[in-house]
Amino acid sequence: MARKMLVDGVLDKVGEETKQYDFDLFVIGAGSGGVRASRTSAAFGAKVAICELPFHPISSEVIGGVGGTCVIRGCVPKKILVYGSEFRGEFEDSRNFGWEIDGKINFNWKKLLHNKTQEITRLNGIYMRLLSNAGVTMIEGEGKLIDAHTVEITEPDGTTKKHSAKHILIATGSRAQRANIPGKELAITSDEALSLEELPKRVVILGAGYIALEFASIWQGMGAEVDVFYRKELPLRGFDDEMRAVVAKNLEGRGIRLHPGTNLTELRKSEDGISVLTDHGDEFTADVVLFATGRVPNTKRLNLQSVGVELDNAGAIKVDEYSCTSVPNIWAVGDVTNRMNLTPVALMEGTCFSKTVFGGQPTKPDYADIPCAVFCLPPLSIVGLSEQQALEQAKNDILVYTSSFNPMKNTISGRQEKTVMKLVVDSETDKVLGASMCGPDAPEIMQGIAVALKCGATKAQFDSTVGIHPSAAEEFVTMRTLTRRVAAGTKPKTNL
Ligand code: NDP
Repeated sequence: MARKMLVDGVLDKVGEETKQYDFDLFVIGAGSGGVRASRTSAAFGAKVAICELPFHPISSEVIGGVGGTCVIRGCVPKKILVYGSEFRGEFEDSRNFGWEIDGKINFNWKKLLHNKTQEITRLNGIYMRLLSNAGVTMIEGEGKLIDAHTVEITEPDGTTKKHSAKHILIATGSRAQRANIPGKELAITSDEALSLEELPKRVVILGAGYIALEFASIWQGMGAEVDVFYRKELPLRGFDDEMRAVVAKNLEGRGIRLHPGTNLTELRKSEDGISVLTDHGDEFTADVVLFATGRVPNTKRLNLQSVGVELDNAGAIKVDEYSCTSVPNIWAVGDVTNRMNLTPVALMEGTCFSKTVFGGQPTKPDYADIPCAVFCLPPLSIVGLSEQQALEQAKNDILVYTSSFNPMKNTISGRQEKTVMKLVVDSETDKVLGASMCGPDAPEIMQGIAVALKCGATKAQFDSTVGIHPSAAEEFVTMRTLTRRVAAGTKPKTNL
């Protein structure tokens, strides 16, 4: 039914029929997607309510707070800790630039933690004000569906209230999942890692995705010994294989111990911390064991299936291209749909939802050429296709251009760490299909490259762009020598 309305371009007329409902839109979950959808829907004239659990900046038991995972226990606090850990490298590099640091440099974890918590609290306040300034009704409590038009809220004191709405949007995000290993309760997830009371001296990390590598860099930068265990040959499955190898080399170069092809088999409490046993028969002792083994959609306590909202095998809400669920007036955006689990993608989905339902402009989120970054040190950032993805999709041969160089700063500091950049180009159309960079400032640089790819830039257009000198970024427009040509139909190596 919703689909028919959309195809005909006959959209919801804001205000019409609202009389019989308390709200035009009720949003469950005030994270990135939910807040964006609420505000943009209200701007189109919809009467909007949003519910969220109370904010707790430290507790890992309360999964709530306006701002959601990104602001409260994800991107923002993580980036603050990354900034904190970057100083280690800066102090090391400063010596050959003439800086003389006498005596021991101390790092005060509690001070950083306090400042981080203050900043998160400030942002939480800003998000609350954004909602109230937009005219959105904020309701504190946990929401669940009673029927297709009714949400029941359990407030913090246990009382329940029902609210009706013409449309319901589910934006409840995801939560960390623990690998099922004996002793897993001794491990922490990223929720707790952001608020540890003491800085650990010895850390074991399981997994080699975004969170694992980011925390490995954070803790190593702050002086801990870090061991990362993962099942594959290289970290960051799904990224360009060549860049994965560069990341691994750089992390090891900074002192992080990588253990590819290794699983943990058991965690045990020991006198000296936590004993970590591996399937290679080794035993390690750690103060903290982090499980960074992926996240699962928050769908369990919403009563979704009983109102007909279908889930996939991973427990994510199934949606169509407009974010509509199997129930025509119930919609879902963000990690709870497990499409591309990134904050800016949830924001895009939230905006498209409002345009579609309340703005008179049916709009599908566009998942092409979405850039992203892993904030390990140095960071990796990518946009478009990896070499392997390009080969899987290729009709034509693929041209690969790579540049591996010693950044100018390293020539003086003496740091032995290469920056690597890569362009993957279609040999017939000359279109740049993918770009990646591992090196300082990669995420800042790749945002601009993403605009170029979104505009369909060709390699010739990259080449005709004048560089900014001296910078690392200029390498992207000076890669003249072909590294290799890979024939269409070549099978990419698998199981790395
Ligand atoms: P990822 O999916 O990125 O990585 C999960 C890692 O855990 C993989 O290395 C995986 O190994 C491993 N793993 C999964 N299950 C097991 C198991 N049972 N035993 C051993 N290893 C296991 O998840 P993250 O938790 O790092 O991050 C979750 C999501 O959050 C990301 O996908 C991303 O969407 C988002 N995120 C984005 C960030 C950013 O944009 N900078 C930062 C942080 C998170 P294998 O490859 O072998 O399956």
